[in-house]
Amino acid sequence: MCDVNSPSVKWAKATVLCASLAICSMPGILWAGATEPEPVLRHSEVVFMYAASEEAYRAYGATFVAWGGAEKAEQVKRHHDLGIRCTGSMWCLTAGAENIHKDPKLRAACAVDIEGKPVEVPWLFDHTYEGTRSYFGCTNNPEFQRLCRERVREAMAGGADGLHVDDHLGTAGAAWWQGGGFCDYCMKGFRAYLKTHATKEQLQQAGVERIDDFDYRTLVRKYATTREAYKKVQRQVPLMDLFLQFHAEAAAEHTRQLGQLAAEVVGHPVWLSANACLPNKTHTYVVKYLTHVICEVGQNAWAGTKDIDHAIEAYELATTLGKPLAATASGQDWAFVKQNNCEDLVRFWIALAYAHGQRFMAPHPQRQWCFNDKLGTHWYAAPVEAYAPLYRFIRANAGCLDGFEAIDVKDHKPTAPANVLVTVRKNSASNQIVLHVLNRDYDAGTKSIKPLPNVDVSLDKSLISAAQPQAKLLSYDRPPQQVDLIQNAGTVRVRIPELKLWTLVVLE
Ligand SMILES: [Zn+2]
Repeated sequence: MCDVNSPSVKWAKATVLCASLAICSMPGILWAGATEPEPVLRHSEVVFMYAASEEAYRAYGATFVAWGGAEKAEQVKRHHDLGIRCTGSMWCLTAGAENIHKDPKLRAACAVDIEGKPVEVPWLFDHTYEGTRSYFGCTNNPEFQRLCRERVREAMAGGADGLHVDDHLGTAGAAWWQGGGFCDYCMKGFRAYLKTHATKEQLQQAGVERIDDFDYRTLVRKYATTREAYKKVQRQVPLMDLFLQFHAEAAAEHTRQLGQLAAEVVGHPVWLSANACLPNKTHTYVVKYLTHVICEVGQNAWAGTKDIDHAIEAYELATTLGKPLAATASGQDWAFVKQNNCEDLVRFWIALAYAHGQRFMAPHPQRQWCFNDKLGTHWYAAPVEAYAPLYRFIRANAGCLDGFEAIDVKDHKPTAPANVLVTVRKNSASNQIVLHVLNRDYDAGTKSIKPLPNVDVSLDKSLISAAQPQAKLLSYDRPPQQVDLIQNAGTVRVRIPELKLWTLVVLE
């Protein structure tokens, strides 16, 4: 299956050829000759966050630009001419400090706290205009919704293949974490939500007598009258779970409507993604409306490879939710990378995502977003030669990735040395198994992954067919190797002579 003439590779090539027609690979629309709808993102996809030079695209083997950069017709054409699918992007976070400062209508459409004061976006502390801060827009307020729709029209004006919605939570983000979500429109929406989602008992316990007159702010003020006090007691306020759920559902519906508008603007179905930061629960509500997820997944860079459970959980949750995901690290992670120049760690993140069936977006050659409290927003220019070989390896071995799924190995987990991570993936059409073997022996002092000699990985015999005497070892930084499988009573063992970062073990 890893052969370039395999059906899945041919299919991928055909899709790339007709990508400029867009329609042929829309989710749910069958490509002629195919028996299943083409996924928006195949596993072997190489995704850029933002637009880049043709040179960078070629170096990486780019197939998709996920976070905007193709808002104008000439930008869309440029990408299609290169065989790359592309998106327009907009955000629902804020109208921006300058707009808020100059436009009273937008000023009145910000998310507000229990005191009626606008709620500032903490990580935009360095984005102010003549003393006005960047406040959350309220995605339940028609005026801010109007601005979001205008942004969608601009983002899709060039006829991009998809729309990416950044900060899709809008006022829900302010409600969940910043003490916001209390404007008149939010109250009206919550009242309607309670009518369909609250039980009689819940309303009685909260002391709601007549739902039509109910104003949640009156109830909240019995517990706290300032934002500061509210943040301390928020979880004790009755109906709070429903309040937060309402906000998340309302934001998800808002995103769905933006996707619908995008399709109307271009006159054909479009892909819809959002920066839905899995595995966080608040971000899961929107996933049902998306074709794929493009998001930041925290990698805890400061802990080396020790604290990666969160990232694995994100990749597995996307698989469970049935949506392909392409991740980047958090702004804090990238600030750490820029400061410490730890390229091996980034290569580990890339391998980790692909080993779990998802994708890690190509670190951008000019504009990889970094953020920390000291410097605020700044940028990392990721050296192409440091990362591109890994992505070229992924493209060259698409046949070992596409069509494979994680198999449940709960009862017969492969055994491997400590500091070696193994995932087992199977192509159910061909019955082929590929193991992804990752070396997580990262030394923060030398900023490198220490190669491990003679790494033995044992598999339960029931996972493979008896006719597989050999395995092929594929790595991005060495030629393929052929090794014999060692058969024992109940297990099969493969020995990797040297595990550098990531080896695919293709059982043949
Ligand atoms: Zn509101």
